[in-house]
Amino acid sequence: MALACGREIRVRGIVQGVGFRPWVSRLAREHGIVGRVLNDALGVTIEAFGSTPALNSFVGSLEKEPPPAAEIAALEWKPIEALAPLGFEIAPSLAAAERRLAIPPEIATCDQCLAEIFDPSNRRYRYAFTNCTNCGPRFTIVRDVPYDRPATSMAVFPMCPACRQEYTTVTDRRFHAQPNACPVCGPRLRLLDAGAVQIHSDDPIRDAAQLIARGLVVAAKGLGGFHLVCDATSAAAVLRLRERKRREAKPLAVMVAGLPQAERIAILDERTRRLLTSPQHPIVLAPRRDGCELAQNIAPDNPLLGVLLPYAPLHHLLLDECARPLVMTSGNVTDEPIAYRNDEACARLGGIADAFLLHDREIVTRCDDSVVRVIAGAPTVLRRSRGYVPRPVLLQRRFDKPVLACGAQLKNTFCLAVNDQAFLGPHIGDLDNLEAFASFEESIVLMQRLLAVDPQIVAHDLHPDYLSTRYAKGRDGVVRIGVQHHHAHVASVMAEHDLKAPVLGVAFDGAGYGTDGASWGGELLLAEYTGFERIATLRPLALAGGDAAIRQVWRIGVAAVMDAYDGAPPRDVLARLRDVPEHALETVMTMIAKRFNSPLAHGAGRYFDAMAALALGIRHARYEGEAAMLLEHAHDGNVTSRFSYRIDEAAEPWQIDLRPAFREAAEALVAGHQPGELSSRFHNTLAHATAKVVRAAAERTGCRTVALTGGCFQNDRLASALLGLLSPSLDVYLPRNVPPGDGGIALGQAVVAAALSDGFGG
Ligand code: ZN
Ligand code: ZN
Ligand code: FE
Repeated sequence: MALACGREIRVRGIVQGVGFRPWVSRLAREHGIVGRVLNDALGVTIEAFGSTPALNSFVGSLEKEPPPAAEIAALEWKPIEALAPLGFEIAPSLAAAERRLAIPPEIATCDQCLAEIFDPSNRRYRYAFTNCTNCGPRFTIVRDVPYDRPATSMAVFPMCPACRQEYTTVTDRRFHAQPNACPVCGPRLRLLDAGAVQIHSDDPIRDAAQLIARGLVVAAKGLGGFHLVCDATSAAAVLRLRERKRREAKPLAVMVAGLPQAERIAILDERTRRLLTSPQHPIVLAPRRDGCELAQNIAPDNPLLGVLLPYAPLHHLLLDECARPLVMTSGNVTDEPIAYRNDEACARLGGIADAFLLHDREIVTRCDDSVVRVIAGAPTVLRRSRGYVPRPVLLQRRFDKPVLACGAQLKNTFCLAVNDQAFLGPHIGDLDNLEAFASFEESIVLMQRLLAVDPQIVAHDLHPDYLSTRYAKGRDGVVRIGVQHHHAHVASVMAEHDLKAPVLGVAFDGAGYGTDGASWGGELLLAEYTGFERIATLRPLALAGGDAAIRQVWRIGVAAVMDAYDGAPPRDVLARLRDVPEHALETVMTMIAKRFNSPLAHGAGRYFDAMAALALGIRHARYEGEAAMLLEHAHDGNVTSRFSYRIDEAAEPWQIDLRPAFREAAEALVAGHQPGELSSRFHNTLAHATAKVVRAAAERTGCRTVALTGGCFQNDRLASALLGLLSPSLDVYLPRNVPPGDGGIALGQAVVAAALSDGFGG
């Protein structure tokens, strides 16, 4: 047999588990190309043989029109001479190296599958588990690798002849679609009452929709866990859900049938539209449209709305049946992780839901909805979970030894890093309850198995009481490395954008354990991968009663004005802290004056709390970050002025002193100025003061690269203002694909630990 001339084409990017190989195979046939395609450790390799014009047009098509969920990062080819096969084949590829790439994230229902479930003549008409190689569940159903049906929770559903035919036909769009199923052979829905007793129903979706229309709450099993669902246009239904879920005020996500419906409730632009319809289908934060049909108590006092589009057939069918926007919030009691097993959901959500819409396809791993917001002009992932996990963050450097980074205490995610890939785990939530901690441990075990990674280095926060730290301390036979919280925040941005050290990192958040044992959070660091210098920090505020002050933000307001007025604020200023009983005020003032149970904290978040307490009269934050969020949303875009501040360069580290700002704010308030004006001036002041220290530090160190991160940079007003003040004369980077809050810390921990153990090469 003669050797044929052909091309070896290497494609890198998101090309595995997204229907890429079957698509290549179809494309090759269309172009009269023979050869083979296989997964390799970095992506996909294609060996193609045919005439030169055919090869040219084949390569052109590869680049032009990849399948919806695929993303080609690079495509290179070189000529080869080899034996050409007779046809075009998909070569088996089971090497261990590729395991890591092979598990894809969940992909929202594609247009073709959608058309089928609404087509009465189709065999999948109204079938809630319809999927294909371009869409469907993935990570959440996987027990093991390779990603093949027997290793998923679909193993218990033997395919009927029709499904098997699709699964084994190369030209079919369900070729090798692991969760392929139909009403004959696949999972089924059931409806249960509040007591978990099955209700007879010929059409569980229709019956569930009727309950929702009556104002009841239905727990519906989705891809990564249960949602609590109710009518988003009914204030009574929303109130019922809030009371039972013990979620007083935190905004609830709303799902609508499609983009036109989303436009009716939210003000969208090109970017938010694209996010809503992306294969990930995250919750997108966008301004709520005034006077829309939604109940006011969906997001009280909050102009932003969390909107998402249906991402599984079950949602499409439910939305179609209900014909109105639906609340789709995580199926849990506040602060617990999302329920994902049938029995667990019935037990834990029994007091919340009036009915359960269940199915018998097991969710192996819980995976909450992801959240994205446009911040300072670009999309930023605030919660990176379903649709993104377990896709790696690709780095330009390599981890010589596998690293497990355990993350923070709140909004926990962990990270497994190997070679040039960092795999962030699903959003676990706050580790302070048993359920969440169990979920954290289980997810780590599963991810280690799926990725075939046995970590040799375990990175953790310095806080001794974080459960993630305690977990790390309990891992034997590994090198354990503690990484300072804000250093990790900054290193996370450095890794995401492949920044050359050193970097001036602004890390503004609520709290993180400092190397001196104090609570940091208003930090400017000169950061390397291996360490940092603390160049500046915010003047600390006293937290009267410690953690109690974080919810009772009026206490922080008292601390800020006492500090601003040297311990003796005028009565008319204190009177702005509304509805605080006289005796409580006296007690807190005494605590702060005597420094009794009032630790000092540098967190920028505390200044937002203090200003919200003063300017907006907020006494209690009903959920974490509420006061800061309300202050952001109160701002008046027309106000460009600011308050005074001081930078104390004699202090070590430099201190950003906002006492002058609080005095001026208090006087403006007493003089009758509006809260919106104060909010704007506060944001402008913090941005201005930060820009000033950053410029001074750039001057001193010669470093021109700046990273802005920490939970405070979920605030678009702050991020935009500071970005505007610093660029373009400095190179400014923000977290984009990794959360700015504590959900992004694990990546930074991983790279710092690797660098410290000399295992993070160029
Ligand atoms: Zn599909
Ligand atoms: Zn079937
Ligand atoms: Fe933090």
